[in-house]
Amino acid sequence: MKLLSKAKVYLVSRPSVDWEQVAAFLADEGVPPVPESIRAGSDSSNAIVEISARLCYMSYGRGRSDIADFIHNLLDRKDGSVLEHVNYGFALTGVSRSLTHELVRHRAGFAFSQRSQRYVDESESSFVLPPALAQEGAGSEQASEILQKALETAADSYAKLVDALGDVIPRDRFDSATDRRKAIRQAARSVLPNATETKIFVTANVRAWRHFIEMRGAVYADWEIRAVALQILDLLQEEAPLLFGDFEVAELPDGTRTATPEFSKV
Ligand SMILES: Cc1cc2nc3c(=O)[nH]c(=O)nc-3n(C[C@H](O)[C@H](O)[C@H](O)COP(=O)(O)OP(=O)(O)OC[C@H]3O[C@@H](n4cnc5c(N)ncnc54)[C@H](O)[C@@H]3O)c2cc1C
Repeated sequence: MKLLSKAKVYLVSRPSVDWEQVAAFLADEGVPPVPESIRAGSDSSNAIVEISARLCYMSYGRGRSDIADFIHNLLDRKDGSVLEHVNYGFALTGVSRSLTHELVRHRAGFAFSQRSQRYVDESESSFVLPPALAQEGAGSEQASEILQKALETAADSYAKLVDALGDVIPRDRFDSATDRRKAIRQAARSVLPNATETKIFVTANVRAWRHFIEMRGAVYADWEIRAVALQILDLLQEEAPLLFGDFEVAELPDGTRTATPEFSKV
């Protein structure tokens, strides 16, 4: 039985700009060439925010010429709707079903694709150690033993249920062998615990990521999802420092981290 203690977070998709199309749009609208303020954004996310925001007043090349100042002003005024044009997608592995159950509660601006427990056999699945037990010295031997035993029992029950249902569920009730396997696994998964490892692809826009990190990076959030929110923030602060740089990361005495934004829920 494989026990995992740290999620893997892969930044898979990021925004990009077609500068030829931007130039064509601005030329057609009589605003050539591409204003320096837009070019000043070193990453595409800044440029998308500025291009979309300036369209509202057709103010290209006017007003604030410093992109940092421009974005700071948007965050300060909570003009968050333009942040919805910028999307980042992550593949998460080594996360528990309890984490993904909390993750998918985030609705606005999110898209999810999660590994199916109906299609995919869970006989060899891994389990995620709750951070309280994974931390060095924090999990008592007794607690670890209790968890280990419970997970072994669950894995064993799952395998036995798959076998038992395989013997009794009639083949002629299904159009295909795949449908029958799904029927078996969807029943057997009822004994799998929250700690069962899963994988999920999650894409969200910058406004939604900011809200997610604020909620799940707070001290009140579950430790596992908080750690993942912080891993996501680390990557996004590198990718788009102007859009995520206001989050302050703090180390707590228990070794975990929290994230607090200067600009709350933009
Ligand atoms: C520490 C913590 C403890 C929690 N405990 C529990 C718990 O015990 N039980 C439980 O059920 N949940 C719990 N949750 C989940 C929480 O209630 C939210 O479901 C989750 O955090 C998603 O937040 P959200 O709705 O703001 O986000 P999103 O769904 O991403 O929405 C973002 C924002 O969009 C707006 N919005 C979205 N949908 C609507 C809508 N339909 N109508 C109006 N406005 C909308 C709101 O302003 C919302 O804040 C907890 C969350 C945290 C962080």
